[in-house]
Amino acid sequence: MTRLAENLVACPECDLLQRIPALPHGGRARCPRCGHTIAASKPYSLERTLAFAVAAAIVLIVANAPTLMELSVAGRKASTTILGGAIEMWLRGQQITAMIVIFCTVVAPAVYIGIMFTVLLSARRTPAPWWIGRLLRWSEWHQSWAMVEVMMLGILVALIKIAELATVTPGIGMFAAGTLVVLVAAMTVSFDPHEVWQRVEWANGEMPDLVSGGSSTVTAESASKSADVLTGIKLGLVSCEACGLLSRPFDINEPGQCPRCGEELALRRNNSIQRTWALIIAALICYIPANVLPVMVSTTLGSSEDDTILSGVVLLYKTGSWHLALIVLIASVMIPLAKIMALAYLLITVQLRSIEGRQERLRLYRLVEFVGRWSMLDVFVVTFTVALIQLQPLMSIKPGAGVLFFAAVVILTMIAAECFDPRTIWDSSN
Ligand SMILES: [Zn+2]
Ligand SMILES: [Zn+2]
Repeated sequence: MTRLAENLVACPECDLLQRIPALPHGGRARCPRCGHTIAASKPYSLERTLAFAVAAAIVLIVANAPTLMELSVAGRKASTTILGGAIEMWLRGQQITAMIVIFCTVVAPAVYIGIMFTVLLSARRTPAPWWIGRLLRWSEWHQSWAMVEVMMLGILVALIKIAELATVTPGIGMFAAGTLVVLVAAMTVSFDPHEVWQRVEWANGEMPDLVSGGSSTVTAESASKSADVLTGIKLGLVSCEACGLLSRPFDINEPGQCPRCGEELALRRNNSIQRTWALIIAALICYIPANVLPVMVSTTLGSSEDDTILSGVVLLYKTGSWHLALIVLIASVMIPLAKIMALAYLLITVQLRSIEGRQERLRLYRLVEFVGRWSMLDVFVVTFTVALIQLQPLMSIKPGAGVLFFAAVVILTMIAAECFDPRTIWDSSN
């Protein structure tokens, strides 16, 4: 394995080789070919993120312990917490959905905040211990599955739906959950992983060369300015997907592990095209029962009624909350289908080795990645509606089988987007 200059990178989205220039305070370096932000200077990144992480850890506990919201109708009261919502799903026969809800609302945010706290504390000394790299890889994965903001919107929709039937009062937990959304977003915005990676001791025992003041020799030159587009794959260089380190393996077909963070290296994500196809076909199959089967079954004084996602939208519209009806319609019905179609389009154009509109296709891919999580909205709406409306024998709501298929569609498309390798969009031009 040959060491290369620290500031030489291959764009993670299009594989173009480039040097990161010395950035001014708050400056950003964008890839000249695809526009991806390769590096951003975030002043006091580690200190700021640590402060947000400490606050987020405290607020996370407050959001989970006390009452999230309280319902009162005809002299009866009911209340729930985040965990309580998931437990109610479990008790009403939706164990898998309950586990997904717990993972996305409690486990993933807690692990993300906990790891970030550990990483930021340990990265204060240089060189920072090598295991920070492993932890950082884990935190990124958990971050993509932590859906506090989607849960918050889900709680609000559930609240407005229930307000038609009973009086609902938000509890302390709800305000804490709202604050947590802001703090987690602040952590993401203020954190600069490059700063940590620069300090980390390499997994193979080497010490990091700290980029010193000598970086002024670096120019903002980019390989794309020459007539020939230089990419990592062309020069036999592999970029680590976790830490961004560029290395030259002895055998390009078996690059081994990243010398810095220990991540398994690959020129392109493994069997990216086949796997993405398999996942979106599975998602498309689940999309049918997700829309046909009921997501909720409500029983009122002995008579029961099935609710599908679409009938829920109609109900919201009829009760006058057309804006919420629109949000649920877009998030639950249109986005999942649009995501499946967009990924299929990307796969087909990559397989046809199309060179048309690569920039637009990359934008489409980023959009699919970005909106993916918001489709989980309806799962959270069902969870918190079920958790609150347990007023037997007056009225009760049970989750239906549709909600599991629906969660499956969201998860499958999210994993499909992770499997697709955006660099393949650009490969045909090389
Ligand atoms: Zn790029
Ligand atoms: Zn690495």
